[in-house]
Amino acid sequence: MRLFTAMLGTETNTFSPIPAGFKLYQDFYLVRGGRHTQPYGFFALPLVRFRERAKALGWEVVESLATFAPPATRTLRHVYETYRDEILADLKGAMPVDVVLLNLHGAMVADGYDDCEGDLLQRIRGIVGPKVPIGAELDLHCHLTQEMIEASDALVIYKEYPHTDMVPRADELFDIIQGKLEGRLKPRQALFDCRTIGLYPTPLEPMASFVKRMASFEGKDGVLSVSFAHGFPWADVPEVGSKMLVVTDNRPDEGARLAEKLGREAYDLRLKFEPPWMDLEPGIDRALAISAGKEKDASLPQATGNGPVVIGDVTDNAFGGAPSDSTWVLRALLARGLTSAAVGCIWDAGAVALAEEVGVGGRLQLRLGGKIGPISGSPLDLQVTVTGLNPDLRDMLGGGELPLGRAAAFRIDGTEIDVVANSLRSPTSSPLAFTRLGIDPMAKQLVVVKAMNHFRDGFAPIARGIVYAASPGCIDVNYRRLPYTKVRRPIWPLDENPWT
Ligand SMILES: [Zn+2]
Repeated sequence: MRLFTAMLGTETNTFSPIPAGFKLYQDFYLVRGGRHTQPYGFFALPLVRFRERAKALGWEVVESLATFAPPATRTLRHVYETYRDEILADLKGAMPVDVVLLNLHGAMVADGYDDCEGDLLQRIRGIVGPKVPIGAELDLHCHLTQEMIEASDALVIYKEYPHTDMVPRADELFDIIQGKLEGRLKPRQALFDCRTIGLYPTPLEPMASFVKRMASFEGKDGVLSVSFAHGFPWADVPEVGSKMLVVTDNRPDEGARLAEKLGREAYDLRLKFEPPWMDLEPGIDRALAISAGKEKDASLPQATGNGPVVIGDVTDNAFGGAPSDSTWVLRALLARGLTSAAVGCIWDAGAVALAEEVGVGGRLQLRLGGKIGPISGSPLDLQVTVTGLNPDLRDMLGGGELPLGRAAAFRIDGTEIDVVANSLRSPTSSPLAFTRLGIDPMAKQLVVVKAMNHFRDGFAPIARGIVYAASPGCIDVNYRRLPYTKVRRPIWPLDENPWT
């Protein structure tokens, strides 16, 4: 048997000011021929798993391009077409293949292509023909389209956000596709449109229980896999929004009924699925109240009284396409006279370069952040001491590695506020982003991370509380304010009742 694998992905925020060209992909993750190195990159995990499973069966594996870019605006047309055509050329060169497995995102948009994954899958189907099984693993922040469904035999989507289950989902997909290849299974996919836009962290209730409920249907009555495509709200494409996908063993009607049943349940729970977003100043109030023991974070019942309260600077999350250089939160902390915090990572390669010039212990009059545009706020002018440098800072998420680039830590004069700046726009996912620069988050009253929800996996074990604070920024969590033009209607919350 000969397996062909590839990865081409990003999560496109069509409202982002960050361009997406070759460099964005090359600097973040780009490997050819399966040359993944350990510790494996976060996005390489499914590909490595597909390879392990295939090799264990004695299959030959042909590994094509594997590249992923941090979220930004639409990928430039020639960049998408170049990478796509490289994969297609590799596939033609590898023919005949018996099976194709891909790691895709599902929300990649390029100039001229609202559905890159649908386009890629259809072209792959055109090359391999109708009989070769095609499977793809997708991020749950995908725009699941009928084109993707029709061109594939099975799609399996992460169930967890933070994305901690990429490897189990890779196994789930491999099992289905292997079953099809061996003639034991006839996978049929049923899609239900939940007609809603939202963002749903899965460690929080009632979403945590809903994930368990979806999984409870799997493995019986012919149900092979149940996936909830949460959708990615910050994309002006027709198919934005939440969808329910059920893969059965040749039971399309039962699959459609289950997809509708679970999809309608998800719609009914949509408001409870959203995290408790707070505006910036009330969010800081809440963080300070938890820190002082006046309030408790019910989502962290196991939290001890020792750790910091972690504020997610959600609107400036690099993994949603934001610049990651906004100064709103740090400015607010300084305006309040707060003195104990760790803040990171602010994307400011210029600040890193100045720090590298003076070295650890060096003093700087630093203009920090606020470079990308008005949504980032004004830069902050600070007197600082460089307290740490790291030439290749790496963070971890879901068992995979995320690069943060060159990094520097600064102590702001007259405070115990430590700020990390980095050269590669990427979210802050775990305490490693601080400890690898000599900053101890446990010693701080507050930790501010430029991230939306992935940080929960790394910080929940040490946090006394977690607050989702929304300052002005690129990732507006009030979906009604987003300037959509292409989105299919009706859909909630743009339409009050999308079922009429
Ligand atoms: Zn995601």
